[in-house]
Amino acid sequence: MALNRIVLYYQFAPISDPTAVMLWQRALCEKLGLRGRIIVSKHGINGTVGGEIDAVKQYTKETRQYPGFKGMEFKWSEGGAEDFPRLSVKARDEIVAFGAPDELQVDENGVVGGGVHLKPEEVNKLVEERGDEVVFFDGRNAFEAKIGKFKNAIVPDVRTTHDFIKEIESGKYDDLKDKPVVTYCTGGIRCEILSALMKNRGFKEIYQIDGGIVRYGEKYGDKELWEGSLYVFDKRMHMEFTPDTVTIGKCEQCGAPSNKFENCANEDCRELILLCPECAADDSKRVCPDGCATVAA
Ligand SMILES: [Zn+2]
Ligand SMILES: [Zn+2]
Repeated sequence: MALNRIVLYYQFAPISDPTAVMLWQRALCEKLGLRGRIIVSKHGINGTVGGEIDAVKQYTKETRQYPGFKGMEFKWSEGGAEDFPRLSVKARDEIVAFGAPDELQVDENGVVGGGVHLKPEEVNKLVEERGDEVVFFDGRNAFEAKIGKFKNAIVPDVRTTHDFIKEIESGKYDDLKDKPVVTYCTGGIRCEILSALMKNRGFKEIYQIDGGIVRYGEKYGDKELWEGSLYVFDKRMHMEFTPDTVTIGKCEQCGAPSNKFENCANEDCRELILLCPECAADDSKRVCPDGCATVAA
């Protein structure tokens, strides 16, 4: 049986004709029998594809031939084409939907005016040197932080990435404008944009973690500044960096420890809710505690 793999990747690079790049990427994936999701915009590319290992290798090689993608890093993981329902390759206004396609500036070095990149060891060093002054600012959707986050992190009230601009302009975080703020997200892509948007709005000392939580967790697990599980956007739903990860999430129905999200049983909702196995198995509890419970009844 052939070996299969998945790659995850992104690159910020100016793309003058995103539609042409999208068509080239689609043809390339079809030729190689890959499935997955790819988004191309004038700011770059963001994708995850899976397939037979030699086909994926060939894909990375050919993709790097585009001048702006030459230095692109591909993160390899277990899995294959069967982990995706289909191949979806799209040209959009943004590779991550912050609702700021004209604000984000990208040049051959990546995002212009973003936060200072910190390696995992530099994150720890910053905290050693500056102590409690350092603020961790979660760059993900709020629900993701329910099962894991940096200790004492601020989790902004965002349902989707689109809510960030409204949130950072709300005044709620104005006291952070003179503090060292470390933004973080799963793999780093969302903070590339978020850190630039924050700097544009007067946050003076903004950092971002190179490779995001994934790289930090690979280096330090949950022994240092990270606690809990990591929400992931595939069928696993969550992952742990060590066998002794503490379950910090709580079932939204009964409060028991949980790190597994389920879709609300209300067909009009389908929102992700955190449930323990017992409540997840009970149809009357497999719904959002406020609002959807009455629909199910
Ligand atoms: Zn429960
Ligand atoms: Zn619901």
